[in-house]
Amino acid sequence: MALFSRRKKTIEEPIVTETDVETLPEPPADGLDGLRPMEAHRDYLLSLVEELPPFGQQILDALDLSLCEDVISTVDLPGFDNSAMDGYAVQAADLEGASDDDPVVLAVVGEVAAGQSAVHSLSPGTAMKIMTGAPLPPGADAVVPYEDTDRGTDDVLVYTTATEGQHIRRQGEDLEAGTPIFADGDQLQARSIGLLAAIGLDKVMVRPRPRVVVIATGSELVEPGTPLARADQIYDSNSYMLAAAAKETGAQVFRVGLVSDDPEVVKQVINDQLIRADLIITSGGVSEGDHDVVKAVLPELGLTDFCKVAMQPGKPQGFGLIGDDKVPMIMLPGNPVSSFVSFEAFVRPVIRKLMGNPPYVRTAQVATAAEDIESIKGKRQFARGWVTTDDEGQRTVELVGGHGSHLIGDLARSNALVILDEETDRVAAGSVVPIWLLTED
Ligand code: AMP
Ligand code: MG
Repeated sequence: MALFSRRKKTIEEPIVTETDVETLPEPPADGLDGLRPMEAHRDYLLSLVEELPPFGQQILDALDLSLCEDVISTVDLPGFDNSAMDGYAVQAADLEGASDDDPVVLAVVGEVAAGQSAVHSLSPGTAMKIMTGAPLPPGADAVVPYEDTDRGTDDVLVYTTATEGQHIRRQGEDLEAGTPIFADGDQLQARSIGLLAAIGLDKVMVRPRPRVVVIATGSELVEPGTPLARADQIYDSNSYMLAAAAKETGAQVFRVGLVSDDPEVVKQVINDQLIRADLIITSGGVSEGDHDVVKAVLPELGLTDFCKVAMQPGKPQGFGLIGDDKVPMIMLPGNPVSSFVSFEAFVRPVIRKLMGNPPYVRTAQVATAAEDIESIKGKRQFARGWVTTDDEGQRTVELVGGHGSHLIGDLARSNALVILDEETDRVAAGSVVPIWLLTED
């Protein structure tokens, strides 16, 4: 008998079924033309990303971010009665009848500057020099500005009467302790940061800036600042444009160097970036070409959805939840105008959702078309436009360049996207069209 005979298998082999394969939730249905409606795609992406969890930030770093707590002032503002002018703290009753011709003389019994407190209270018939922001001495009930006196140091001549309370900033007149000053969801402006500091807070809970990694793919791409070595090379403009757009939206951006159309390199770079990304944006490689590497390899890295959207430019789109942490990733087409329009249509709303910063979708404005505009029925078209505003605030838009999605010069010369919806095939000059004004929030 063999000493080490193979044990006979008594346990049954597990049955492998196909039911547990993880996928993204069912994407929205395509239209009859096989294209996915633009808004349905955008809403689908928005449904697949969550607002980032609250994070404590220094108040200066919280500028433009969305608060995740209610803030109630624990202090009065001002915190104490103080002078609004440089002058003299007085008792108003002492100045009855004072005038240029008949000034009242008061003995000057001391001086208080901002950051000091009076050492004693003010008796009738006396005055105390006081500087703006200095605490009002007990006993004083008015401040007379220097301009109404002879600026005396031992005695002071006062040339006007005074009303009780004049030039005094009262404790709590701006804000009383216990007053709610900000609510969960408020976006913090420079003015709000000032108030947070004024009530003594150095940190607040906010949704942090999303960390957005931007990657450009394409073997033809060359880093700006280096010479083009061959006639078939072009400079990478997309990653700079997308990084800038993400920054403008409020993200903390990491722009990654160029990635060639080599599947292994693309996979490696994306895997390396997952650790620091709340969102990854790529450009290029999502259409039907033989070298459209992003579309080819991303399904190996996570759950993905590649589709054709009923929009122009920007038809090929990709989305994924990548890696173990399911990091959201938006894969944009490589033509610069397609990339930019796709950013506006899909990435900007997603970044704003991550930041908890509604409205997620840019609010459409309207302008009068200066010329006839042709459009393709069945697709949402975004034409580049230049909007001018007249003295009455009426906007007019004219087209900049053609529909070509490579026309980055025209894109840079425009300040709006003209939105031509699916039902529209022509907008007559003089009619009103919706626009996204790129210079406004
Ligand atoms: P793709 O989507 O990769 O097929 O690229 C479509 C077109 O966009 C091609 O003409 C590319 O050369 C161009 N393109 C792709 N990526 C970039 C980029 N980062 N900057 C400028 N143009 C690009
Ligand atoms: Mg490419």
